[in-house]
Amino acid sequence: MQTLANFIDGRFVEPAGGTYFDDIDPATGARCARVPDSDERDVDNAVAAAGRAFPGWSATPAAERSRMLLALAELIERDLDELAGRECVDTGKPLLVAQSVDIPRAVANFRFFATAILHTQTEAHQTDTTALNITLRAPRGVAGLISPWNLPLYLLSWKVAPAIATGNTAVCKPSELTPLTAHHLAGLCLEAGLPPGVLNIVHGRGEKAGAAIVSHPDVPTISFTGGTDTGATIARTAAPMFKRLSLECGGKNPTIIFADADLDEALPTSVRAAFSNQGEICLAGSRLFVERPIHDRFVDGFVQRTRMLNVGDPHQKSTDLGALISAEHLAKVESYLALAQAEGGTIRCGGRRPPREVVGERCRHGVFLEPTVVTDLDAGCRTNREEIFGPVVSIIPFDDEQEVIEQANASSYGLSASLWTTRLDRAHRVAERLESGTVWVNCWMLRDLRVPFGGMKASGLGREGGQEALRFFTEPKNVCIKLGS
Ligand code: NAD
Repeated sequence: MQTLANFIDGRFVEPAGGTYFDDIDPATGARCARVPDSDERDVDNAVAAAGRAFPGWSATPAAERSRMLLALAELIERDLDELAGRECVDTGKPLLVAQSVDIPRAVANFRFFATAILHTQTEAHQTDTTALNITLRAPRGVAGLISPWNLPLYLLSWKVAPAIATGNTAVCKPSELTPLTAHHLAGLCLEAGLPPGVLNIVHGRGEKAGAAIVSHPDVPTISFTGGTDTGATIARTAAPMFKRLSLECGGKNPTIIFADADLDEALPTSVRAAFSNQGEICLAGSRLFVERPIHDRFVDGFVQRTRMLNVGDPHQKSTDLGALISAEHLAKVESYLALAQAEGGTIRCGGRRPPREVVGERCRHGVFLEPTVVTDLDAGCRTNREEIFGPVVSIIPFDDEQEVIEQANASSYGLSASLWTTRLDRAHRVAERLESGTVWVNCWMLRDLRVPFGGMKASGLGREGGQEALRFFTEPKNVCIKLGS
């Protein structure tokens, strides 16, 4: 079994306390690595290394930083299968998904920000003939980057790439449940020639290593993706320290299907939105609102398609849903199945752990759940308000536009929505009124890295992506030059 190390100052080092915990493959229950159980001493070392690297890295020409990030992208692409295998073992997701989505997207993130920094503009505002204002933007220093387990390398690279591209140095803490791809990335940083200390990786638990990054006085920027409760905890520490904070948190995203929608498109896409990555995607469409005239037909079609999804061994090419992240998470998701029934819901399909014959001998100790469709629940019940983050969705009928907007917005979350109609006027009207950071019309998960990404309400604070990320990681300073008379 592999023993992982922290990556500090360009070297692999043991945790200061010398203690480790196990990384478990949720598809088999096997122990696959020992993970450093880092504490504030490791974080102190990483922050010090990042601080030492900052003057040199921030003064490195953008073209040179770009070249190194592009080299890193190339190396990730070279090791795509190795990284996908690691992600599959860590998360339990289908190997094909890691190969075709997660790792290629990490490559795209590095390429995008490596080239974006070559095309930035400096703003200037002339005040009549009196003065010229030039807005300079400088990297902010050491960035603390904290990421979750559901898309481990992709979401880590979504933070690392803009942070270091803009000249910051970074201390990262990947999820304790999925450290394997970040560990491999560290080796690739060495190969790409990234100077020591530019990117540091501290493994460990959130409440120890993560909290030490958030409270560190020499880390002025915190970018976090994870659960809403964790985001609130981080904000309580970071806000009084006047840190710049980006919080990408949970979602309970509505998929809204009007009777005039093209069902040939809406049905398969909404099934994909519900169950991709076992439903463990912050953008998953987990509340489906369907206009009453087509409700029953839609439910039948949705259930039929859901039953055709294969749950099982992530290594099998035919597998659509792999394992959930952990036994604890499976128990949490199952508790929502019990709640849904207690609230009067009907489980139309799924709801069970698949039998051993289905998941196969290799995965007999894995944590799997059949994709589950629930109906007959009110929009306002707990099942329809709280984030389940698993393969469980609820379908709710609605009667008119006004009603569905109110129901969709009756959530503390506001991350994304998917809206299906063939009427352009309705698409505009409803999209504008949905309280949601992203509204997809007649599609789901179409991503353009240039657009602002993030959530409203309890889904987070701030936006990532494109210009938003470049601005987040840099500090504007206005220089006002008085013009001669
Ligand atoms: P989590 O909040 O439990 O953990 C996320 C990260 O924060 C981990 O690295 C964890 O170790 C760390 N952490 C935990 N407590 C901490 C603390 N007190 N201080 C500092 N760091 C701490 O979330 P998770 O279970 O890993 O991920 C699932 C959640 O992430 C879901 O709610 C999902 O919706 C959300 N998510 C959001 C987005 C988005 O872009 N909005 C993307 C993916 C996942």
